[in-house]
This record gives sequence, C-alpha cells and structure tokens, in this order.
Amino acid sequence: MGRRKSKRKPPAKRKAIEPLDTQFNCPFCNHEKSCEVKMDKSRNVGKVYCRVCLESFQTTTSFLSEPVDIYNDWVDACEAAN
Ligand SMILES: [Zn+2]
Repeated sequence: MGRRKSKRKPPAKRKAIEPLDTQFNCPFCNHEKSCEVKMDKSRNVGKVYCRVCLESFQTTTSFLSEPVDIYNDWVDACEAAN
C-alpha cells in the first residue's frame, strides 16, 4: 500500500520584508533615486534631500507618515512654488 502523503504546501505567500523605499527621483535635477528620506519619528519631522543637487526639504510628519508621503509633500511644495 503505497500511500503517499500528499504534501500540501500552503501557497507561498511571500511577505516583502524589504524596508520601505526611501529613495526617490529628484524633482529638481531629475536624477533617479538620488533623494533620500529620513524620518525622525520622535520629533515628527521628515526630511528629504537630494545627494546630487543638495536640495532639501523638511516637513512635519505623523506617526502614520511614510517616506513616500514626505517625498510627495516635497513635490507638492515644488509645484506650488513654480
Ligand atoms: Zn536633485
């Protein structure tokens, strides 16, 4: 009696453990992924700066903020300034 236990694998749900993307394209010099977001959650401050053209931006964050939110704030501020 060759009863084979069928190995039932649960569908491999790969959780992306990758850290949130903190590198974005620069709205000033248009370099790709040259802008890095740093968040200071204890002070509710988010900063983004470009390694290439050294433009920087600072905004207030909430505990829900993610790096992309800070970046979007920056882009919004740029567009508002133009
Ligand atoms: Zn730049």
